Amino acid sequence: MTMASLVRRKAYHHLLAARNSHAPVNFFSRGFASAGSDDNDVVVIGGGPGGYVAAIKAAQLGLKTTCIEKRGTLGGTCLNVGCIPSKALLHSTHMFHEAQHSYANHGVKFSSVGIDLAAMMAQKDKANKVNYFKGYGKFVSPSEVSVDTIDGGHATVKGKNIIVATGSDVKSLPGITIDEKKIVSSTGALALSEIPKKLVVIGAGYIGLEMGSVWNRLGSEVTVVEFAPDIVPSMDGEVRKQFQRSLEKQKIKFMLKTKVVGVDTSGDGVKLTIEPASGGEQTTLQADVVLVSAGRIPFTAGLDLDKIGVETDKRGRILVDDRFQTNVSGVYAIGDVIPGPMLAHKAEEDGVACVEFIAGKHGHVDYDKVPGVVYTHPEVASVGKTEEQIKALGISYRVGKFPFLANSRAKAIDDAEGLVKILADKETDKVLGVHIMAPNAGELIHEATIALTYDAASEDIARVCHAHPTMSEALKEAAMATYDKPIHI
Ligand SMILES: Cc1cc2nc3c(=O)[nH]c(=O)nc-3n(C[C@H](O)[C@H](O)[C@H](O)COP(=O)(O)OP(=O)(O)OC[C@H]3O[C@@H](n4cnc5c(N)ncnc54)[C@H](O)[C@@H]3O)c2cc1C
Repeated sequence: MTMASLVRRKAYHHLLAARNSHAPVNFFSRGFASAGSDDNDVVVIGGGPGGYVAAIKAAQLGLKTTCIEKRGTLGGTCLNVGCIPSKALLHSTHMFHEAQHSYANHGVKFSSVGIDLAAMMAQKDKANKVNYFKGYGKFVSPSEVSVDTIDGGHATVKGKNIIVATGSDVKSLPGITIDEKKIVSSTGALALSEIPKKLVVIGAGYIGLEMGSVWNRLGSEVTVVEFAPDIVPSMDGEVRKQFQRSLEKQKIKFMLKTKVVGVDTSGDGVKLTIEPASGGEQTTLQADVVLVSAGRIPFTAGLDLDKIGVETDKRGRILVDDRFQTNVSGVYAIGDVIPGPMLAHKAEEDGVACVEFIAGKHGHVDYDKVPGVVYTHPEVASVGKTEEQIKALGISYRVGKFPFLANSRAKAIDDAEGLVKILADKETDKVLGVHIMAPNAGELIHEATIALTYDAASEDIARVCHAHPTMSEALKEAAMATYDKPIHI
């Protein structure tokens, strides 16, 4: 038996001994002082995808666990005002767009197609109903959290280990006040009661582009203003160019290298004053609604981190080691509140790994292999390095590409915009990065993620038998193109 498995066995037996019969997660909501005040093995502050997953995993491992959530619903940003409602609206508006522009090509005819915005919003809200558990946690000591419950009560929750999973919040811009009516954050953009005639989106990141797509499909004239020279800066440059062209074909306008220097809400709509990013002549831009989508910031307000001496960086993110422990023993942090990609699935992975460490097991999250997806149409998904990053590292590489125009399934469904691009090490053929623009790129990317995780070569992907006709065949063909030649082009 190896040393590592011996250590794992020991930890496992220790856990079994400590296990109580059901080890339930106590989602803390009540105002009476006794609830949850017994010593816990794990206390989780925040019930988002990081926090609730950590709590469930801890309970599964037999640890006595309490989760505190101030919002009133579990699921955090993701389930309440993020991933899920935005994807519900993206799906509804995509159906509307398809009905208007594509169904007739497939021989499906309607006499008229209309929008019932209230019904669309109601369908979105149905996607995120969860139980109510309410309370605002703050540190009293590294092993004690005081909770102000939403129903006016108060309690103290003790834990041997405390995990901070308090997530992130919208980043505002200097001089711009978000009122969630005329000037909205993503939260307001998910709940507009009327379709704005003109929508200006400040920030060309994935959230801005997804929300811009939603309202563009419903008939808004959408202009995206971005300070940087490119949209979605983390995206592979070549894919990004095609993606921008695709969005422009959908009539989304882009004003890149442009900054907003003034906002006037005194009239009917909003008057924005803009100028080139490098300075120069000012012009104005009129909008009915402005979406501020300039990123998100870690949320630690009211936690009293300074009281127990937890270190944060300049951007307010909690600093952790590779076991998710802060500089204060027994206090951990995961998800959007620590450095790394601000994504729900990354927060979940953090949660599981953190609890595994607490339980004496071995967790692991590789931030270089976290897939990212923009859920527009087409979607753009990527994992690993971009061509620009590989060049900057001085690695010699090969590129294999395959367009969906040459993929039989994409042609059959008349949705063939996009490509697969694979980057592999020139000497070893090891896959370094995969970038996909396609209608369902967010599903296709996982084959590539597995390849990267197992250090596969592009030839390994190419030699796997892929079902026909599927979009996945484009990945196989791009892999063939990386070290040799594709068949169907
Ligand atoms: C519009 C939008 C779309 C998005 N789409 C995607 C997507 O498609 N895919 C994706 O992967 N990610 C997406 N994200 C990002 C994703 O939502 C976050 O990365 C994810 O929710 C982070 O999880 P978390 O658990 O770290 O934090 P959060 O989800 O922010 O949860 C933290 C929770 O902690 C609670 N809390 C905070 N402080 C306290 C306290 N002191 N006491 C008690 N409770 C507290 C908060 O109320 C909150 O519920 C999107 C975000 C937005 C805004």
